[in-house]
Amino acid sequence: MRKKVVVGNWKMNKTKQEAVQLTTDVLDMLNNTGSIACDVVFAPPFPFMDSINDLISAKNGMFLAAQDCSKHEKGSFTGEVSAKITQSMGANYIIIGHSERRAFFKEDNATLIEKITRCTAAQLVPIFCCGEEAADRESGKHLEVIEQQISEVLLCFSAQELNNVIIAYEPVWSIGTGNTASPEIAQEMHQFIRSIIEKKFGEEFANNTSILYGGSCNAANSKELFSKPDIDGGLIGGASLVAQDFVSIIRNCAN
Ligand code: PEP
Repeated sequence: MRKKVVVGNWKMNKTKQEAVQLTTDVLDMLNNTGSIACDVVFAPPFPFMDSINDLISAKNGMFLAAQDCSKHEKGSFTGEVSAKITQSMGANYIIIGHSERRAFFKEDNATLIEKITRCTAAQLVPIFCCGEEAADRESGKHLEVIEQQISEVLLCFSAQELNNVIIAYEPVWSIGTGNTASPEIAQEMHQFIRSIIEKKFGEEFANNTSILYGGSCNAANSKELFSKPDIDGGLIGGASLVAQDFVSIIRNCAN
């Protein structure tokens, strides 16, 4: 059966000292409550990956993610970080196609396909983000947009290549806005995403694919969101920067 997962995407926040402190606080709080029935993934900025990996690598159910990777395998691309480099730093996952990358760095589907190719070649699992804009929903095109985002990227790969892939449904209108999708809207979208995956890869693959909700998910609303049958956890931005909030979300996912 599919895993429950909570991912903390810190984006471009925290100094190294703050990042270490945050992780230490999260681990302390979780140790106090015993083992947790949910995977926890930390996605710190690239330069802190090593330090965070040192803290979590020996812990059960704790994993490291890169927030992004280069579409290139290696070479003269100043400032870029390859999937293989992140793998050598302990990453298990790479977030691909976050709406901020799509919007601010103009990442198109062709780029995302290249990044997933690098990711899987480095034996890493993609956390693939999709989500509609407010205007798409207002014009009733939200299902169509999601289907297009998934079919034009993820469905270009084989089931073997996408083994254990995680999908994050993140409506753009809810990211960092405090405007969380209702549990009903989120469930409808997750069920729809699972049906797209099922059509291409079959029921077993779809049932084993974790689909996370992201978008102003916090300690107060995560319990209800995670109670929905097709919501297997969360991709958390702002609330993952505060240890107590992140731990509450993890507990809500595990229970
Ligand atoms: C995100 O950026 O992936 C995200 C979900 O952010 P937030 O939780 O802050 O809305």
